[in-house]
Amino acid sequence: MSSRRHFLQKITGSVIAISVLPKTGMTMEPHLQDLPYEGPVLRVAIMGLGGYGNRVAEAMKACKKAKLVGVISGTPSKILDWRAKYTIPVKNCYNYENFDEIKDNKDIDAVYVITPNALHHDQVIRLAKAGKHVICEKPMAINAIEAREMIDACEKARVKLLVGYRMHFEPNTLEVIRMRKAGDFGKIRFFQGLCGFKIGDPTQWRLNKALSGGGSMMDIGIYAINGARYMVGEDPVWITAQETKTNTEKFKEGVDETIQFQMGFPGGAVASCLSTYSLNNLDRFFLDGEDGFAEMLPSTGYGPIKGHTHKGELNKPIVTHQTLQMEEMAAIILENKQPIVPVDGKEALKDLTIIDAIYLAVTSGKRVELNLNS
Ligand code: NAD
Repeated sequence: MSSRRHFLQKITGSVIAISVLPKTGMTMEPHLQDLPYEGPVLRVAIMGLGGYGNRVAEAMKACKKAKLVGVISGTPSKILDWRAKYTIPVKNCYNYENFDEIKDNKDIDAVYVITPNALHHDQVIRLAKAGKHVICEKPMAINAIEAREMIDACEKARVKLLVGYRMHFEPNTLEVIRMRKAGDFGKIRFFQGLCGFKIGDPTQWRLNKALSGGGSMMDIGIYAINGARYMVGEDPVWITAQETKTNTEKFKEGVDETIQFQMGFPGGAVASCLSTYSLNNLDRFFLDGEDGFAEMLPSTGYGPIKGHTHKGELNKPIVTHQTLQMEEMAAIILENKQPIVPVDGKEALKDLTIIDAIYLAVTSGKRVELNLNS
């Protein structure tokens, strides 16, 4: 289980036994830090100095191609802390009212948006208008309409829009994708994605639809959706979904507690997934083909990601996801590097189109047909 999930549980007083996780910055391959680097560096400001923002900032200390140089926050005391901790000049600090002025700041190339989900849309569009490249956390938006508007704004401003899909750079995940492309599993027939954790504090923004845009699906179920797509290697063409709720007080109207969903893929594979805020020990992917299988457990936590296939253990290097992600994203922005699995706005639009379809399937009780490549 990830320490994010640990943190979310801990702050809420839930007593749950979970494993100890690698310290951020400790697991990056040493060679990255040892090799001299004289190329261009992406100068990044982080917007939203909360739990995940702190994790990204710590992880960026080990980056060579990306450097934290600025902050955007509504809390002056946090700005003071971060200025001291990361040696950030006062001219690179903004709040949520004045951050449009970042357009005149030549020392910031990109902004990483790490705020509650429902704020991403407006913040990303404002940053695009300010001429900055944007990295936005998942879910990129709270529906497909918003996602399209964000893509359009970034295209119009000619800035790049990337989304924090850290698993797209994780070595064991990429090894399974490599094996699937090489045909090691044969024809893919089945995927299972189980993603969940027991959420605590009922007052947190994740349980407030106005800020979260939904419930577990927006936060953790999206890993099963996105994972199904990169593990199977296709985009789904139909969705069915069923919701269950054990606590209507905590999980109010529009905030899903648990959704089971099924997806069908053009090649004939089917996926069966679970997204929940009410169960721990749910972080597992299973891919089955006619000639072999891959099981990843844990599959999307902060790591180490572990797993095996019909050929043996997955044993690629253990990395700090956010360090590797920021190194790779710097290369995408500065050198136009093409990632193995896309991390752009269009990739996020597909996931949000699927989330829209899942919510529609829940309310209608019907199978929803999809064409993500239209
Ligand atoms: P958090 O609550 O720890 O931090 C959110 C930050 O946003 C806080 O600093 C808060 O002050 C700030 N904020 C700004 N405006 C706010 C408002 N109107 N209401 C509430 N907070 C406001 O949350 P987090 O866990 O850091 O999540 C932030 C984003 O990062 C979410 O989109 C989440 O899905 C994403 N996330 C991604 C990963 C990942 O592994 N990729 C992990 C955790 C979170």
